[in-house]
Amino acid sequence: MFFIMPPKFDFNKIKFATERPTFEKAVDLYESGKIKNFKEGISAYSAIVEGGKNYNVSIEARRFGLGYCDCYMGQNDYLCKHIVALSIYAVLGGKPIMPEDKKLNSEPQCCGKLGELSKMELAEVKKSISNAIKYIKSYNGPSRTWFTYQASLSEGCNRLSAIVSGLPVSAQITELIIKMLLRLDKKLCKGVDDSDGTVGGFMQECVEILKEFSQLDKKCINTFELLCKQSTCFGWEDPLVRMYDENKAE
Ligand SMILES: [Zn+2]
Repeated sequence: MFFIMPPKFDFNKIKFATERPTFEKAVDLYESGKIKNFKEGISAYSAIVEGGKNYNVSIEARRFGLGYCDCYMGQNDYLCKHIVALSIYAVLGGKPIMPEDKKLNSEPQCCGKLGELSKMELAEVKKSISNAIKYIKSYNGPSRTWFTYQASLSEGCNRLSAIVSGLPVSAQITELIIKMLLRLDKKLCKGVDDSDGTVGGFMQECVEILKEFSQLDKKCINTFELLCKQSTCFGWEDPLVRMYDENKAE
């Protein structure tokens, strides 16, 4: 398919910025060919998405999530599965979704493989971490944009989860993850409103991963020293500091 004006967002944007159940339903709609009559307009796309009935859906090219759908959810300004499905179509033009692209890491996982990154790889990963952390920002907007704000925090954490899940186990990576956690901690202390615990939950999952790291490679524990003289916003580092102390006492 040829677009006069391709969308300004990509598949990862859709994946990381959509709640998991909605994303999965949208992928289903896309893969089962429910998007009919796709049309490109001026910086916008429209289609009919088949479902319980036929829904008229349109989206804007300039930003993911701007769109209209005449289903119940869409009419109440929620990001519905039809808008997400049409967004996928606008990005992929009917081409299949690769299995690895479909995988959602809403929780970070330890890959279980020992290893280090080269200097260049490390620099790349640091860049992508900084980029993902930008989505985790302070909030001072009105309450009506609260959901957009929360979605941005989730998007940041989803992006970070995907990065962390791809990293090997070593003292080098332990240091990288700890520094990332300290950056997030600083954000929480300085006005990121994490009242639904998205960021804090993600940080605690990373602490669990670092515990797994230390079981696979004891040298990782020495790196926990970075946390010893820190005062953090909610004590997430305590289990790691304890491991460090116990290891030293041995
Ligand atoms: Zn809809």
